[in-house]
Formats: sequence, structure tokens, C-alpha cells
Amino acid sequence: RELRYNPLTGQWIMVSSERAKRRWRPQGYCPFCPGAEETGYGWDALVLPNRFAVLSREAEPVMGGDILRRAQAYGDCGVIVETPEHNVKDLDELSLDHVVKVLKLWQQVTAKEMSDRRIVYLAIFRNKGEEVGVSLTHPHGQYYAMPFFPLRPRLMADNARKYYRRFGRCAFCDIVRKELEDKERVVYSNGGFVAFLPYYASWPFELHIYPLRHVQYITELSDEELKYMADALRASLGALNALFSRQMPYTFNLFQAPLKGRWPFLHMHLEIYPLLRDRDKLKYAAGIEMSTWDFTYDSVPEENAGLLRSACESVKPRLGL
Ligand code: UDP
Ligand code: ZN
Ligand code: ZN
Repeated sequence: RELRYNPLTGQWIMVSSERAKRRWRPQGYCPFCPGAEETGYGWDALVLPNRFAVLSREAEPVMGGDILRRAQAYGDCGVIVETPEHNVKDLDELSLDHVVKVLKLWQQVTAKEMSDRRIVYLAIFRNKGEEVGVSLTHPHGQYYAMPFFPLRPRLMADNARKYYRRFGRCAFCDIVRKELEDKERVVYSNGGFVAFLPYYASWPFELHIYPLRHVQYITELSDEELKYMADALRASLGALNALFSRQMPYTFNLFQAPLKGRWPFLHMHLEIYPLLRDRDKLKYAAGIEMSTWDFTYDSVPEENAGLLRSACESVKPRLGL
């Protein structure tokens, strides 16, 4: 287990042979169901250590190197089991109060990792669907607590810092204000949060969920705001799953400020990257996307946002909205 540095991109690669030991889609056994080895009974949602962690507080220290640098894979990987019910397909099938419980675990994990001086960045994410390669179907999210500031959020921070210096305002707040003004890409909003398909979306049905209030961490949200967040998340996932009348494979990540330092120009938010562009067509990150990180968007974002908005309308009764 170690971190390897790519001096050309500034990325740290998390290298571990542990990961290869994972059981691939075990049949007839689920490690996250109630009563399994690590879960026990009497819970609605719980955090487990990841058994095949790529980062660990016990990682062996390693030496540097010059052009080919490496570093200790210090950190923490965990699994957030979101419900005891194995067959729930997605978070929109859970009640509002239940989703709030899941978000409270996100708050707990954030607070816990903040207290470790060596953790710099926390990614809380969720992979869903065979198409993304999930190994276990029991509803779960994950987190990686990392000892470095990863490339993409670092890039966002650099740009947001520049914007802040130049205009004295939060770039994210300005984006949210503009999206609310334009309305045409907004898919859902409530008293505390808004979900929109960004003007600059990469994925055909990409959705970003923002708190209206300028905060850096989920731990800053009140119970009422957490409810609004759960509501916006249910509505967004409900819309994605209704869009093609089938479950939408996706990944999402919660972007918070780094856990160390002051980041007044950053604004916590969640980004969902859905993988389908049509009912049975996947959008691949292929040549251009993988090599240059630049995406081609093969339709009109405003039209796709409209489709998502209608899909969202259609699930409101089911979600009790
Ligand atoms: N896992 C675990 N305990 C187990 C089986 C699996 O902690 O008994 C972890 C596993 O290491 C993996 C995660 O649960 O990281 C399953 O996540 P998923 O399939 O969503 O994504 P992956 O991490 O495999 O890409
Ligand atoms: Zn299960
Ligand atoms: Zn802001």
C-alpha cells in the first residue's frame, strides 16, 4: 500500500493490492445485510470500515524518491450502509427521515475526519449500477479520507479563489444565483437547496445540488437544512430514475472544502454524474474525455434539463412532494 505521485499531472495514485482481494459480486451472501459479521441488528443506517481499504491509518510509512515519488497511504476508507433493506434500488425509495439519517452519518464522518490532523480531504461518494462496476448491490455509499488535496477539487479551489479575489464574491453563490434567475436548467428547488443541470454540464443529465446558504461543510447545516438537502437529493434521484423508466446508473460525490485550513471562497455541493444518454445508451468517458478531460455534449443542456424537470414532476406523488 502506498501513494505514487504523477509529477506531470500532480495527481496521487492510491496503490493497493488489498483491493484485488474483493469478492466480486458474491452470490447468496451480503456483508451489509443485518446479522452479517460486521453489521449486527437494530440499525437504520451505519458506517463500517472498508475491509479492502486503499488508505489506512495503519499504512506502513514509505520513503520519498525524487522524480518517482511515493508517500504513505495514510487515511481512512469507509462504507455507509444506507438501509437494512437489501433490495432498495436507490435513495429516492427511502423516506425523507431515513435519508436525513444517512446525511447525519455524512456529518458524523466529516466531524470525525476533521479531528485527524493528517487528513486533508474527504470524499463522500456513491456508485450505483452494474455499468459503474459496483461489486455489491446492497444500498451503500463510501468515503475516502485522504492525506492530500486531490487534483479536481484543487482546480476548483484555484479558480474559485481567483474569482473571489477579483470580484469579492463566491463563484458558486454566483452560479446558483444565475441558475435560479435563468430557471431553464433548474430541475428542483425547495426552501434550502436547489438542483440544476449546470450550464457547463459534462454528462448529458448531470445534476448539481447546492445549499442556498454559503457553507463549506455539511456539519454547518442545521437539522432543517439537512431535511431540505435530503428532499432535494430524493427529488433529483427520483427524476433520474424516472427519466428512462429504469434505474439510472450514476456516481455522485459531495464536494466539501479541505478539512484543514480556511476556505471562505468554497461552497459545499453535490455533483451527480449519470451514465446514460438514452434508455439503453451509455455515455462513455472515451478518447477526448479521458485524455484531455474535455467533454463533448451531444445535445442541448436546456432541453435535457426540461426532460429531467418533467421526470421530476412525474415522481412527485410517489415521493410525497
Ligand atoms: N467491502 C467491505 N466489506 C466487505 C465487502 C466489500 O468493506 O465485506 C467494500 C469493498 O472494499 C468496496 C465496497 O465495499 O470498496 C463495495 O463498494 P462498491 O461495489 O460500490 O465499489 P468499489 O469500491 O468496489 O468500486
Ligand atoms: Zn444486503
Ligand atoms: Zn457560496
